[in-house]
Amino acid sequence: MSEPVIKAVRVNKCYGNVRAVKNLSFSVPESICFGLLGPNGAGKSTMMRMIYGASDRDCEPAGEISVFGFNPQIEPLAIKYLSGVVPQENNLDEELNVEQNLYVFCRFYNIPRPEARHRIDELLHFMELSDKHSARIRELSGGMKRRLIIARALLNKPKLLILDEPTTGLDPQVRHLIWDKLRGLKRQGMTILLTTHYMEEAFHICDNLIIMNKGEKRLEGNPQELVKKHIEPFVLEINTPEAYSRIKPSLQQNTRIDKNGGTVKVFSSDQLFLQKAVSRLNPGEYFLRQSNLEDLFLKITGSSLNAVQ
Ligand code: ADP
Repeated sequence: MSEPVIKAVRVNKCYGNVRAVKNLSFSVPESICFGLLGPNGAGKSTMMRMIYGASDRDCEPAGEISVFGFNPQIEPLAIKYLSGVVPQENNLDEELNVEQNLYVFCRFYNIPRPEARHRIDELLHFMELSDKHSARIRELSGGMKRRLIIARALLNKPKLLILDEPTTGLDPQVRHLIWDKLRGLKRQGMTILLTTHYMEEAFHICDNLIIMNKGEKRLEGNPQELVKKHIEPFVLEINTPEAYSRIKPSLQQNTRIDKNGGTVKVFSSDQLFLQKAVSRLNPGEYFLRQSNLEDLFLKITGSSLNAVQ
């Protein structure tokens, strides 16, 4: 088996007294999409920045990171040439138009002009932005800016694409388009590392992920398998305490109850039992569904993925 593209071993990072990343270890093999999933403040971006050399490991023990065999703290440029980075913020140059933003990066990578022209056309087409090639940045929607930044990250034909919260704030349609493009890149053999606090994003595009909370790894694995292994498959969500008290007497021992805010979640492996239980409830008072990564996160951390740490 080939060497992993990214290897992190017991990595730590402090900001003053705050330990943002704690003893984090994981490895990312070639041609998969690997996710760092966790709520805001979990340490995902900090870990990400250390991987592409934008942030140093400076607290003891610092741990080790290697990307294509290079140490990001010593050889960040070697990693930059093999990677494309999509940062969290839209850092496009507002003074330049769409293709000029891409040309600037081609010069940075020493891509000769005729090849740059070809590459830009190809990537604008791939990200469905061809009709915007001369548009000013301020004329683009949030989703178009995001797609342009992804196109920019692909100019140097990277072997590793790093994306920090790629679809935060975008509408579902654009989000699905971006997921589609990322899946396409993976099929071409690209390795993808992304951070997200959207469990749906992690579930749909990650082959493997770690669930992070307060700088620590809490679980690691394939998202579908993690859900299968660590949580009851069905959940009945009851919207009001009053509705819950109506069915409470009929709930069996083998259910697990999670109360979070006004909603009560009844987890069970027995779908039929939950279906029978809802017969005492009115439409609109409940939602019966399969369990997901959000439920798993809640189970292992006691808080929601959308909570801020
Ligand atoms: P996430 O990407 O999961 O939202 P971050 O890595 O941005 O989390 O943040 C992890 C922790 O480190 C948080 O407590 C955050 O406030 C803190 N932090 C992040 N960046 C800095 C910084 N530049 N200076 C001080 N604290 C920071």
